[in-house]
Amino acid sequence: MCAQDNTADSKAIPTSDFIRHIIDADLESGKRSEVITRFPPEPNGFLHVGHAKSICLNFGIKRDYAGRCNLRFDDTNPVKEDQTYVDAIKKDVEWLGFTWDEERYASDYFEQMYQYAVTLISNGDAYVCSLSSDEVRATRGTLTEPGTHSPYRDRTVDENLDLFTRMRNGEFPDGVHTLRAKIDMASPNMNLRDPAIYRIRHAHHQRTGSEWCIYPMYDYAHCISDSIEGITHSICTLEFEDHRPLYDWFLEKVGTPVPRPQQIEFARLNLNFTMMSKRNLLKLVEDKIVSGWDDPRMPTLAGMRRRGYTREAIYDFCARIGVAKANSTVDFALLEHCLREDLNSTADRRMAVLDPIKVTITNYPEDQKEYFQAENNPINESAGSRDLEFSRNLYIEREDFMENPPRKFFRLGPGREVRLKYAYYITCTEAIKNSDGLITELLCTYDPASRGGDTADGRKVKGTIHWVSASNAITAEVRLYESLFTIENPLSPPAGKEWLDFLNPESLRVLNTVQLEPALLDVHVTVPYQFLRMGYFCADSRDHSSATPVFNRIVGLKDTWARVQNK
Ligand code: ATP
Ligand code: MG
Repeated sequence: MCAQDNTADSKAIPTSDFIRHIIDADLESGKRSEVITRFPPEPNGFLHVGHAKSICLNFGIKRDYAGRCNLRFDDTNPVKEDQTYVDAIKKDVEWLGFTWDEERYASDYFEQMYQYAVTLISNGDAYVCSLSSDEVRATRGTLTEPGTHSPYRDRTVDENLDLFTRMRNGEFPDGVHTLRAKIDMASPNMNLRDPAIYRIRHAHHQRTGSEWCIYPMYDYAHCISDSIEGITHSICTLEFEDHRPLYDWFLEKVGTPVPRPQQIEFARLNLNFTMMSKRNLLKLVEDKIVSGWDDPRMPTLAGMRRRGYTREAIYDFCARIGVAKANSTVDFALLEHCLREDLNSTADRRMAVLDPIKVTITNYPEDQKEYFQAENNPINESAGSRDLEFSRNLYIEREDFMENPPRKFFRLGPGREVRLKYAYYITCTEAIKNSDGLITELLCTYDPASRGGDTADGRKVKGTIHWVSASNAITAEVRLYESLFTIENPLSPPAGKEWLDFLNPESLRVLNTVQLEPALLDVHVTVPYQFLRMGYFCADSRDHSSATPVFNRIVGLKDTWARVQNK
């Protein structure tokens, strides 16, 4: 099953960067005649927005060069991987609007990898080492000191072949032996100090079951998988730069066909106030700090989708951050800015009162109702309009009334006049309080001559507020979100603290008495709406129903990014 390649292919994903320059040169020089990339997630968690950067890059290159791009699951560590993650990852890539050419699994290549390992052993390029992992660590040396040779480094080829076969056959428990590459224990690059190729792990694998009890290490499995699939440009993040010599060493020593895949590194996406690490995100899920991988506060694609993010906003974001060779942290406000830009042009407008206070218009006839036409999207005429019911009893936001308003408060106060959007001017005559002093109702009068929002005498009313008629309002739950963390970089907490110390207790606020206009009764989940003056919202894909409406705030209206840029 594949997604339709309708949107992603036509959208503005970055089209010029240093990786595309390398590809251009390769095609021009004749080194390559085609371009094949892959997106290679490990199925040990849900994808996050950092992965979206890699997806846009790999699939964007496929688009630009009429090439191919595989979705490859890097499933070499059975202990942490699971089919649910495979399914979730496929769903996310499809949601982003990309079509993979082939769905592949590193585990499909286990036999070939094994045979290549036999080649390495036979050529004296690998040996079975029987040091414990602690002993291996102790003999690795440091950045300034060379490591020392394993006492097993000089085992004969026959002995190595025999032990490796028996490793495969399951004769040894976990950890007793490893297969290591024989490279250089004095190399300044620690990755070349006889790295492990295979380890023993008696674990059930979600695809190969109990067929294997030895599993290849990432560095070995990745380059061979790339080679088998004919990947031309193997794009990965910067932390693998020091692994590239090993990538090339393996391919050369096992003798894969030429031209060989070329590893190219780019800067990973880091965003402030959140984290791009499946391991830590898993901890949030396991410890029930969030409601699941798709909790709308999570930086996962599933969470963002549920929150109401659009893929168009994610493309735009990826285009703006570009592809660079140096790591940096991107301001979350930029992502939200891209989101607002998209939602502003696409989201229909609705009225909703989040923190309602009742208004009674004392001079409006009790049994009267009338209707005002309201545009669905003022910047898009084709979005049409709808009728809003108006009656004697309304709701307005509690924060739109002040008993003792300062001079610059242009909303409602005792004796003050304000415009109700699309409807009439109203003037507050009295605020009714309960015994605790809390205002429970506002009595107002309206000016019938102000129908539609203006009067013949041209008197000025500065404030316009939104409202919902109590005659047909729907009560709903609304969830307001803030960032999950209170510090910019939770993965570098101040000394003596850990990232879990900086969870934001206000990251979720639930409002239970929200009043919606009835046009919000019949909506599709995740379709975004702008609630006038309150932000962008969508019905929650898990919990919403027309009987119990639940909306998520996708993002507020205030654009902190634009403000910073305009300074
Ligand atoms: P994590 O540390 O979150 O588990 P990972 O790098 O281990 O991430 P993989 O599943 O191995 O996750 O990643 C699949 C692809 O996505 C890799 O090519 C990786 O380089 C890329 N990727 C992962 N995180 C980011 C990020 N923050 N920015 C850009 N690309 C990323
Ligand atoms: Mg990983």
